[in-house]
Amino acid sequence: MSVRAAVMTAPEKPVELWDIDDPVLEPGSVLLETLASEVCGTDVHLHKGRLAGVPYPIIPGHVSVGRIIEMRGVDTDATGAALQSGDLVTFYDVHEVCNACYHCTVAQQPNRCRSRRVYGITYSAHDGLLGGWAERIYLKPGVRTVRLPEWLDPDYLIGGGCGLFTGFGAIERSDLAMGDTVVVQGSGPVGISAAGFAVLRGAGRVIVIGAPDARLSLVQEFGADDVLSLENESIEARKAFVLDATDGRGADVVIEACGNPSAISEAFGLLRDGGTYVIAGHYTDTGTVEINPHLDINQKHIDVRGQWGTEFRHVVRSLNVLTKHHERLPFHRVIGKRYGLADTNAALADVAALRVSKAIVDPSC
Ligand SMILES: [Zn+2]
Ligand SMILES: [Zn+2]
Repeated sequence: MSVRAAVMTAPEKPVELWDIDDPVLEPGSVLLETLASEVCGTDVHLHKGRLAGVPYPIIPGHVSVGRIIEMRGVDTDATGAALQSGDLVTFYDVHEVCNACYHCTVAQQPNRCRSRRVYGITYSAHDGLLGGWAERIYLKPGVRTVRLPEWLDPDYLIGGGCGLFTGFGAIERSDLAMGDTVVVQGSGPVGISAAGFAVLRGAGRVIVIGAPDARLSLVQEFGADDVLSLENESIEARKAFVLDATDGRGADVVIEACGNPSAISEAFGLLRDGGTYVIAGHYTDTGTVEINPHLDINQKHIDVRGQWGTEFRHVVRSLNVLTKHHERLPFHRVIGKRYGLADTNAALADVAALRVSKAIVDPSC
């Protein structure tokens, strides 16, 4: 049978509907029926051609949830949980790291492995159903699946999408201590996730800077103590608020989750001396910004850390936390709209214009 897929043929070209052949399963592979995939800022960047090395035409959709249709010689997920047909799973979009290069073995940064491939980003549509914007997804041998509890509404995962994992990774990377004051720059899915996991990790106070107001209300549902509107409060007012909230010191941790270069220079003024700044929102190149190395970094004696994408442990651990605390991580509420495979151009336009908080591709729509 043939499978319908939404294909991004080239930057700035409308996404097309293609019929792609059902795969012949290799040993160790899994075929999923797609329940939902996400549309995130990265897909907008892909559509504008802002990421190097993308083999257009591609089937976008890197984080997805599905049900197992068929498996060949697979009986557990990547954590050892038994798997059978019909099970609800997600999977780690990054794979084919070599476990042999310097990055894999010595630096232990498999994200920087040159062999690394990513579903929905670095596979051509000519290679098969290797992206989530399709009725079915083919999980090649070695792709790491994670079984989800049957009672968990998949919207809790897909409403966060990759932002759920990236926000978790950013909080882990910050080494946030219990009681710390945290400022999150950005109220999209990454910022919402970072705020929610900061609260659960024991932050003393979580302040989120973002826009529009609907997103700031959402982030309060994840436990943020204070929200500062980019639209209504000046950069000076935002700094004054954070300094006032910390007896003039500045926040212990600042998480960048907005993808706007201007946030970087603002952050140094919000961070206390010796604090930690994690930059997680610049997965693609959105430009440069001026910094003063003496005043912003050296004299302040701060840590500046990058969080590029996520590793498999972030997926497993964040889902463990989500399973236990789903009532405090209402990612399903972040979903703004569901789009069918024929409507992905509208989805991209809505995400680019920030008209929806989280856009979901649902092939059953
Ligand atoms: Zn490697
Ligand atoms: Zn994404």
